[in-house]
Amino acid sequence: VMNTWNAAPPTVQPPAGPETPVDDIQRIFRLQQESKDRVGSTSVRERKARLKALHQAILKHRPAIKQAMYEDYRKHPAEVDLVEIYPVTAELKHARRHLAGWMADHRVPTPLALLGARSRITYEPKGTVLIISPWNFPVNLTFGPLVSALAAGNTVMIKPSELTPRTSAEIGRIVSGVFPENEVAVIEGGVATSTALLELPFNHIFFTGSPAVGKVVMTAAAKHLASVTLELGGKSPSIVDETADLDIAARRIAWSKFVNNGQICITTDHVFVHRTRMEEFIRKVREQVERFYPGDPVNEGSYCRMVNTGHFERVKGYVEDAVAAGARVRMGGTFDASQNYMAPTLITDVPDDSGLMTNEIFGPVLPVIPYSDVNTVIARINQGQKPLGLYIYSRDRRKIRHILSRTRAGGSCVNHTAIHFYNPYLPFGGSNNSGIGKGHGRAGFEAFSNARAVLTQYMPGPMELLMMPYNGFKQKLIDLTIRYF
Ligand code: NAD
Repeated sequence: VMNTWNAAPPTVQPPAGPETPVDDIQRIFRLQQESKDRVGSTSVRERKARLKALHQAILKHRPAIKQAMYEDYRKHPAEVDLVEIYPVTAELKHARRHLAGWMADHRVPTPLALLGARSRITYEPKGTVLIISPWNFPVNLTFGPLVSALAAGNTVMIKPSELTPRTSAEIGRIVSGVFPENEVAVIEGGVATSTALLELPFNHIFFTGSPAVGKVVMTAAAKHLASVTLELGGKSPSIVDETADLDIAARRIAWSKFVNNGQICITTDHVFVHRTRMEEFIRKVREQVERFYPGDPVNEGSYCRMVNTGHFERVKGYVEDAVAAGARVRMGGTFDASQNYMAPTLITDVPDDSGLMTNEIFGPVLPVIPYSDVNTVIARINQGQKPLGLYIYSRDRRKIRHILSRTRAGGSCVNHTAIHFYNPYLPFGGSNNSGIGKGHGRAGFEAFSNARAVLTQYMPGPMELLMMPYNGFKQKLIDLTIRYF
């Protein structure tokens, strides 16, 4: 096992990281604006070389990233590989393989009324862009969007989270080792730095974080009409119906809830289980947790911690309030504030108006809610904000189709949770409160590009005949056009 990792002291409150002076932010922004046209006209080969250099640097810094993340919140090094490094290297490989296709002009048909013209879409970079990322997957959610921004030919300023300062510093070292600051620069700091950045007229802002801060970002972007991609959060439900394979459902839902300590935007926030299967489901989740963390989870290196005291107290408060209001803890429910430790917790009978059910939980607590009629679950989901993810565990195709077609969500998995994130061929993102716009793969490239429409008139076309002055004859031609074309 990974005794060396277990031996390191736990983090309770990470030290405050640096705030980049506003002068520096403005200077780098100006430098990036000066170089954006040059960077924007790079060839496929040059962009691939940049992506390759980033790829190599990330692999080289892999041990340092693991160390930093362990010190920030005891993320297990294997988990760092799985949820931080691998998604980025996969995104890099995918982008390098597909870049030529994405950058190529895309021919589209031209209607007969525009005879004599050819049409195509050409992807141009937006310019100088800003990426703001959260603490829960600092490497994954910083470098993932960076890959797309570089593929699209932008200059990029990055503001990683201040809550994982060691990881953010490592991100800074990786970037400055590969890129001059007039191409890509990491700006460290918290809200003050973020606010200063948001005053600048970026061409695009790619924000990953909470819906509340997403609104701040979109308001700031409105001042400059900067386009935005907002990757937000919310409460993503799972539904386990009466036909589901409960071993699979329990294992995959427990995995999604306790990996990264449940601090995952697309995890199962809470689960609806068919009433007839509920006790069996609870038993199987408990068995799974014993398999994931064979001793007491507090001693298991695979079990990470909550990121800081504030988040620890928040989730602990939700659980205590729910219990005071009649909820029943069916697994876990123990805490150790000295290390932001919260045991893997399963809870039932949670009142609808308790903090656990009105906020995104973002911690290792799974409320289980029984149901009898799936349509009541659908109605309940549809009354709330559109979730980022909605997961269905069932063996009945008709039921699966029914739930998919009657609900709205950023993305879904059938018989799994969250892993749609890993497929770069799928656009990733939310809808309204859970996000605006999509990332990953081609969708990420498009988010950082302007799809420029180009129509080339190569011989005289019928439009010539319809130009002024208007008269009876032209009106007839116009009538024919409306009728036949
Ligand atoms: P957050 O919104 O608090 O912070 C995100 C970033 O915004 C950080 O870099 C932070 O410094 C900055 N920020 C915070 N307050 C700000 C303000 N007032 N003005 C300007 N910038 C500000 O989010 P978080 O706590 O780091 O992350 C958790 C949230 O992110 C959850 O809601 C989760 O669901 C969501 N999330 C979404 C995705 C996704 O891909 N959709 C992924 C991970 C996390």
